[in-house]
Amino acid sequence: MNVASVSLDLDNLWAYLKTHGDPEWERMPSFLATATPRLLEVFGEHGLTTTVFVVGADAERDDGAAAVAAITAAGHEVANHSFGHEPWLHRYSRTELEAEVVRTEEAITAAGAPRPVGFRGPGYSVTPDLLDVLSERGYRYDASTLPTWIGPLARFYHNRSAKSTKDSSELFGGFSKVFAPNRPYRWDSGLVELPVTTMPLLRVPIHGSYLLQLHQLSPALARGHFRAALRLCRVFGVPPSLLLHPTDVLSAGEAPGMEFFPGMAVPARDKAALLGWVLGALRRHYEVVGTGAHVARLDGDLRGTRRLERSG
Ligand SMILES: [Zn+2]
Repeated sequence: MNVASVSLDLDNLWAYLKTHGDPEWERMPSFLATATPRLLEVFGEHGLTTTVFVVGADAERDDGAAAVAAITAAGHEVANHSFGHEPWLHRYSRTELEAEVVRTEEAITAAGAPRPVGFRGPGYSVTPDLLDVLSERGYRYDASTLPTWIGPLARFYHNRSAKSTKDSSELFGGFSKVFAPNRPYRWDSGLVELPVTTMPLLRVPIHGSYLLQLHQLSPALARGHFRAALRLCRVFGVPPSLLLHPTDVLSAGEAPGMEFFPGMAVPARDKAALLGWVLGALRRHYEVVGTGAHVARLDGDLRGTRRLERSG
């Protein structure tokens, strides 16, 4: 059976408000105590072992450390999702990038998880400096790219709705992402890139919050979209790597201030039902593992697919 992966970015309420430019983020509001057990319950019901990308600033706090401990105890991989979930991470210097990576590793291991070997940056962007830091620190994979043309649309939406006046021209990636590979590949350094899968050919997202956005219009549309994506993945031999977020199981009332966020009008019970259906559909065709295990399983197939790190 072919392998697919599921990963979760444990983005907290404050991180969404920060990206949205809501000053309320500085109080660091958290929904991890609600979201983490609910997500672990859904994964447990499906007997799934996944990967959870954790933000260092959360892992340093009591509720985040408790989340890391619970995730590890349930057998999931804990990976690095940067320290400050800074959407402008790609503007950082090499020293600043290294500090983001290292401080998060320290917080994750202090909370009881093994040292991470996987990284996903906030905002779906990687830079040569970042890849350098990761391979130097012994990381096996990066999972930061989202090969889609929806990014520029998301940026347009963000610029219209955000309260922040900070320039976001590079937020959510540029048009070049359309041509980024949808399949896993290997960088020069040996580090594996595992893209967040988008629908083959159409290059539209298939991750949880996008499906919820469709679900808000029509539940049949969301299911049809995901079914079509799985069919195309099988036809084109693209191993799906599905991305989830805590908001995929939370109601609007459980994420105060996030009414702006797509799909938040869907009740938590309907969200959990859709997520269960999605995971079931994925498991009918694939052996589903976390991103780290996915990379390990693909390893032999990735020879000869190296790309130059500094080719732009
Ligand atoms: Zn994130």
